[in-house]
Amino acid sequence: MSFHSMWTELLPLGRDSASGGYRRYAWTPADTDCRAWFRAQALARGLTHETDRNGNQWAWLGDPAAGNALVTGSHLDSVPDGGAFDGPLGVVSAFAALDELRSRGVPFTRPFGIVNFGDEEGARFGLACVGSRLATGALTVEAAHRLTDAQGITLPRAMEAAGHDPDALGPDPERLGRIGAFVELHVEQGRALDLTGDAVGVASAIWPHGRWRYDFRGEANHAGTTRLADRRDPMPAYAETVLAARREAQRAGAVATFGKVAVEPNGVNAIPSLVRGWLDSRAADQPTLDTVTGALEKAAREYADAHGVELDVVRESFTPVVEFDHGLRDALARILGSGTDLTVPVLGTGAGHDAGILSAAVPTAMLFVRNPTGVSHSPAEYATEDDCTAGVTALADVLEGLIRT
Ligand SMILES: [Zn+2]
Repeated sequence: MSFHSMWTELLPLGRDSASGGYRRYAWTPADTDCRAWFRAQALARGLTHETDRNGNQWAWLGDPAAGNALVTGSHLDSVPDGGAFDGPLGVVSAFAALDELRSRGVPFTRPFGIVNFGDEEGARFGLACVGSRLATGALTVEAAHRLTDAQGITLPRAMEAAGHDPDALGPDPERLGRIGAFVELHVEQGRALDLTGDAVGVASAIWPHGRWRYDFRGEANHAGTTRLADRRDPMPAYAETVLAARREAQRAGAVATFGKVAVEPNGVNAIPSLVRGWLDSRAADQPTLDTVTGALEKAAREYADAHGVELDVVRESFTPVVEFDHGLRDALARILGSGTDLTVPVLGTGAGHDAGILSAAVPTAMLFVRNPTGVSHSPAEYATEDDCTAGVTALADVLEGLIRT
């Protein structure tokens, strides 16, 4: 079955007719439909199919117990009203690359697997990469049991309702130990490839990222009767901080975003007593990120002092840099670069992936396919058919190269 027919078959599953976006949340009927599609593709190719203890789906050519398996794939679930490409492009390309390898007559000298990781987006239970986190032990069984959706349904009950046994949840070192390399192809979630004019790139690393809460505390008062000189207004201090975040990020080549804000008392005619803003910042490396967030906090304290308000900064979460396996990354760049005088772009990404989680246990690499607008997690997410074809060819080249070396 061609890339085009697989893609067309998958397109209507879990699509909301009003928004045009996808609602393929973990362990819902839409997810079950996607899983049935994956299983059918596996069986149609004579692969053995299994769902592991954490709800990840695997299709195998050869016996994975032999070890040093070569695995590719991604995920089929989506964010609320997500696009068609984030996840599915990597799974469909995996099946298409296998077909291509077979038509090239590549000898499968090592086990070959295609994977659909469960609940990558975390749309239903609020935590991303649940399937891969459970497998690597990055998410404990106890914490997984506590995950609850907006309707109050826990992860185990949701799995059960979808016909999957939740009692088996837990780390899976034996299964991961059989994998010699994992390559995930993914639509790019930015415009780096569009700017360089390349259809395909290789990932270097997932940027370190964190979230910080900025609490500016002042004094609530009457918006009409309080002289400007007498105010302790946290809003202008916060506003100057937002502008400084943009300036510091720009200076360092990083990103910094205040995307969520809460104001108390939140009255149109009241000077706020509290402005609480959440900063999300990411950079290519830790020193750059530290520079941006350090400079921003220093600036924010000056603005707070100038406006007579207090500032508390709390780091709520932090994920260090994930470096993909250097040997594998260089092998990919070498395989894709050979035969042309073009070098393959190697780029970092600010978004998380199963490949990032898995890299703690398995040599892992990623390929990105150009996204002309850079828009992702939206129905506007897009890659041209030519670029998807180039992605399949690149993936097949990489897999063949890894099989033959
Ligand atoms: Zn994804």
